[in-house]
Amino acid sequence: MNLKHLKFVLISTPIGYLGSGRGGGVELTLVSIVKGLLKLGHEVTLVAPEGSVLPDSCGRAQIINIAGIDQASWQHLDKNYPMTIPKNGVLPKLLDKALEISKDYDAIINLSYDWLPLWLTPHLEVNIFHLISMGSVSELMKDAIDNLSKSHHRRLAFHTYSQASDYDLKGEPVVLGNGFDLQDYHFQIGTNGPLGWAGRVAPEKGLEDAVEVAASFGDKLLVWGIIEDKSYASKIESSVPPGTIQWRGFLNTHDFQNQLGACRAFINTPKWNEAYGNVVMEAMACGVPVVAYNRGGPGELIKSGLTGWLVQPDNVEELKIAVKNIDQIDRNDCREWVIKSSCYQEFARRICRWIVAGIEDK
Ligand code: UDP
Repeated sequence: MNLKHLKFVLISTPIGYLGSGRGGGVELTLVSIVKGLLKLGHEVTLVAPEGSVLPDSCGRAQIINIAGIDQASWQHLDKNYPMTIPKNGVLPKLLDKALEISKDYDAIINLSYDWLPLWLTPHLEVNIFHLISMGSVSELMKDAIDNLSKSHHRRLAFHTYSQASDYDLKGEPVVLGNGFDLQDYHFQIGTNGPLGWAGRVAPEKGLEDAVEVAASFGDKLLVWGIIEDKSYASKIESSVPPGTIQWRGFLNTHDFQNQLGACRAFINTPKWNEAYGNVVMEAMACGVPVVAYNRGGPGELIKSGLTGWLVQPDNVEELKIAVKNIDQIDRNDCREWVIKSSCYQEFARRICRWIVAGIEDK
């Protein structure tokens, strides 16, 4: 194994093509990993659902598009829901292709949050590693992760300690954080802009609480992201004065960060154990302080009093006070913190160390 030039196969999420937004934060994470590994001089082939595209900055990566039907997202199924794979499902096909080409590569890094690749791992000769992208939302998935930890603990990695704590792991979790290309995010100094919120519009993201905060000030809330649950979205909209929510749609990173950076504060209100929370770091990368529930990833990403305010989960009154105090935060500190803690090259280095240690541990 040539440590200076490793060859990786990456498996994308089986929920939507890359660029669709349906894969949530995994999409941006994948791009950061590809970019970072290339920058370190490694080679990457990405196996992803048909229609997937990578930005020009990932030009040297090969992408293999695979046709097939999406998996359902686990977080929108009952906790006790069984594993199901649709006919012509894309998940087994992504695995098929990754395994077929794996003999020419040092390792497979799997980013699909799904049962099949986890279950297969002990039965495979190839070095397959799993970057787990969610906390526990399904009993079956929790079992699969807990069981794999018993026999192959080093094959698993997580984004935050809060996320990893959802699982009963055999040892200390490998926690990798995430990474961002700061060149993609421009610092904006303005402090009189609107309030912002971003994410998949779905109940686990708690948009209703951010909307309540904006409405209490007679303010607008700019909302970016795909609407996964239309009836949930219209219910929230009808609970506040017309015009409170300004739907901005799902934008590419360039346009997203441009609009996001103009906000005076970003509100993040997860109702679940958020694995990481890319949007929190993206806001801070633009200089926007974040007010968030101290729950899941955001609880580890925000330095309360320096880059925003963490408040008690589900306490909307505390959110309102925190938004009022947002001018106590220096926007420069927000960006500095992202530069220091989460650049994509360092993220790729952490990934390489995880993989190499896991291979040597075999
Ligand atoms: N996002 C985007 N354009 C938008 C709104 C959101 O590209 O207009 C992306 C954002 O960059 C982030 C993702 O959507 O990577 C949301 O990920 P996050 O980790 O916040 O939550 P998840 O969807 O994974 O639960």
